[in-house]
Amino acid sequence: MTSHSNVPFVDLVTLHREMRDELTSVMDEVLRTASFIGGPMLEGFEEDFGRYCDSKFCVGVSSGTDALRFALIGAGVKPGETVVTVPNTFIATTEAISQAGARFDFVDVDERTLNLDPGKLEEYLLDRCYIDRHTGRISSRRTGSPVTAVVPVHLYGQTADMDSILELAERYRLLVIEDACQAHGAEYFSAKENRWRKAGSMGVAAAFSFYPAKNLGALGEGGAITTDCELIATTSRKLRQHGELKRYHHEMEGYNGRMDGLQAGFLRAKLKYLPEWVEMRRAAAKRYGDLLASLQGRVLPPHEPSWAKPAWHLYVVRVENRDELQKQLASAGIGTGIHYPVPLHLQDAYGSHNFKQGDFPVAERAAAEILSIPMYPQLNFSLQREVVQALHRFLIQDTMREDPVPAGTSSPRAPIQ
Ligand SMILES: *Cc1c(COP(=O)(O)O)cnc(C)c1O
Repeated sequence: MTSHSNVPFVDLVTLHREMRDELTSVMDEVLRTASFIGGPMLEGFEEDFGRYCDSKFCVGVSSGTDALRFALIGAGVKPGETVVTVPNTFIATTEAISQAGARFDFVDVDERTLNLDPGKLEEYLLDRCYIDRHTGRISSRRTGSPVTAVVPVHLYGQTADMDSILELAERYRLLVIEDACQAHGAEYFSAKENRWRKAGSMGVAAAFSFYPAKNLGALGEGGAITTDCELIATTSRKLRQHGELKRYHHEMEGYNGRMDGLQAGFLRAKLKYLPEWVEMRRAAAKRYGDLLASLQGRVLPPHEPSWAKPAWHLYVVRVENRDELQKQLASAGIGTGIHYPVPLHLQDAYGSHNFKQGDFPVAERAAAEILSIPMYPQLNFSLQREVVQALHRFLIQDTMREDPVPAGTSSPRAPIQ
């Protein structure tokens, strides 16, 4: 067995090399027509991606962060209001809330899925909120302002438990804006509607990111809002272009948040393959599940509820001694990541918000144990076996350090084949 393998964390080279001709013909078309911003490529992509997400409208923008910000503003979140989300997400989620002028509050996540825990959302609304006597609106004790929206994050490509979240949102009149930036192609079985629903089609609006490493990535930056609400779509279109629909007729102040024609063309070409790539990720996740079973619980694979068909943006396991293990894997040539090492409530950026260690124990515990191992459509069985063999090697070493095997007995477990 070689001690040095080479399994990158992601592989953005192979996939684009395989599509080289299609991508360069997009470039040729853009050069031929000079449709650098907007134009038919953008419209075509918006139509295709909206359909892929089972959404009536899709608005292409310059990043996932802009998509979240425009979706929040477009859905009607007003400055000063409070928006609830989770602490174990990328900071773009809370940045977008703040940039929309709102305040954020956190609720902790479910121990097994690491997604927003509907039970804790209900507890939050009952225990950490009050009904404002003057306005009659439910308000946060921490921020002192009305709670008007919730942003569930479909972390790692697995949707949050949307039936329960939507039911609470209806009861408390909250807007639901999905952070689907990691969840292109993920599905959720709604028991209430007795059908599978696509990520991005369940809230009043959703935000997607096309950052290159996402399940559908641009060759640069990009994002999109999906919604069934025409008003949210129209407002998002205005926000991305300086508050105008008609050139130089500004109905409001907006932003420069447009999607390049070139990126839209690349994304449209890549979208054709997305269903296949998602299936490849699902097959790789299944293989990991089988391989990891040999580690007998020392590596906890991701939990997959029966209502989830994850898109496996990331494959995140939980281990003890995570930092040491990550170092050893790196020295063996195996790329890993941590998504994310510091929960948002403990980030320096939010030092003035008076959060403390212990506020969200599930997210905090997870942050110390999670490890994202290689995951991409082209990841094949032999690469996955190398990853799991390396895990096996280091975990067994660890066992031997902790409780030495008595002389005369054989090593605890033979390396898996
Ligand atoms: C990537 C990501 C974003 C932001 O997307 P950008 O395109 O990088 O702006 C937001 N939320 C989550 C959960 C993400 O993973």
